[in-house]
Amino acid sequence: MTKSISLLGSTGSIGRQTLDVVRELGVRVAALTANSSVDLIEKQAREFHPRLVVLYDHDAAKELRGRLADVGIEVGSGMEGLVAAASLPEADTVVTAVVGMIGLKPTLKAIECKKRIALANKETLVCAGELVMDEVARCGAELIPVDSEHSAIFQCLQGCRDRSEIKRLLLTCSGGPFYGLSYEELAGKSRADALKHPNWSMGAKITIDSATLMNKGLEIIEAMRLYRLPLSQVDAVIHRQSIVHSLVEFRDGALLAQMGTPDMKLPIRYALTFPTRVVSSAEPLDLLKCAPLTFAAPDEDAFRCLAIARRCAKQGGTSCAIMNGANEAAVGAFLDERIGFNDIPALVEAALSEITQVSSPSLEEILEADRLARESVAKAIKRL
Ligand code: NDP
Ligand code: MG
Repeated sequence: MTKSISLLGSTGSIGRQTLDVVRELGVRVAALTANSSVDLIEKQAREFHPRLVVLYDHDAAKELRGRLADVGIEVGSGMEGLVAAASLPEADTVVTAVVGMIGLKPTLKAIECKKRIALANKETLVCAGELVMDEVARCGAELIPVDSEHSAIFQCLQGCRDRSEIKRLLLTCSGGPFYGLSYEELAGKSRADALKHPNWSMGAKITIDSATLMNKGLEIIEAMRLYRLPLSQVDAVIHRQSIVHSLVEFRDGALLAQMGTPDMKLPIRYALTFPTRVVSSAEPLDLLKCAPLTFAAPDEDAFRCLAIARRCAKQGGTSCAIMNGANEAAVGAFLDERIGFNDIPALVEAALSEITQVSSPSLEEILEADRLARESVAKAIKRL
């Protein structure tokens, strides 16, 4: 069980919930990091007394250094700071709750230092999953998923001694706020409409990904990398109630699921305490009171991001990094109200057709694919 953590992305939705779990479990905090949220990270630092606090933004870090001068906590900045937080010797576990591809280098560093990695940052596995999983195996690190679907699968696989017994992983998908709408009906949807997720309260980027269903596409790739399975063995099903968090189908026809109320603290807690389960104050699921459970096929004609992600999952190489980089840039522009909802898949498609793809890429080639994808989206937005 985890004794001390470095928490990357402490001010975000997963980061704040991780600190709730940390309070409950009495785990120590060695490092906290964020981008620029000075007020909140100062408050967190004063409560948890980590050795190191990092803000990626240099100006914000300077401000924080001044504010924390009285408590003698070291303040770092930039990628160097994030990597230092990921490799502190006193932390046995690194929780990667930072959003986006920015999490890749710190995750690789934590793997090199043989930490337990409680991984929420799915973009890392989407862009560089093969490389990351090879490093996990080479260094003997431990990677435990925090994403609720992947945690559900991880939990269902605990009794499985032979991975060839798995027939299929089935990821559940709430369908987001626009379930049932056609591609044409999606066109006019605004930032405010898209931020209203029916079941989960999450950071802005993943909430938009949930509305476009890109989130499920990213999660299909995340599952393929984590469990080393081809696309033909990973599928998604719409389940509006978010009670069944995902399922594993075995070759004898048995289907195992993990169920519970939608609460990210369960997978966070499990990633920290694994292989032990601990008592928690979480609201248990009352089967007699919960809504009937329904399942349906996703509509990939309306939600084109899911179809794009499946195509990239099949292609492999740098296509997933291009798709992810373009999606991060397009979602950022949508959140800034510079583009429309259906421009997100269109911009991702355009980046994929414009940029030459590389098979079996190195880390540098993956980072370059990400850079080119963001550049392609920025240029295309100027032309809109
Ligand atoms: P949030 O947007 O709520 O939080 C993001 C965190 O990352 C903040 O602490 C933010 O700091 C930090 N951050 C952003 N940009 C940078 C940067 N350039 N350098 C350093 N730190 C940065 O995101 P979520 O908590 O919702 O999601 C985090 C990750 O977990 C994502 O990959 C998401 O897909 C995944 N996930 C989230 C779930 C959820 O329920 N929220 C569920 C499953 C997976 P600051 O506050 O300063 O901006
Ligand atoms: Mg998820």
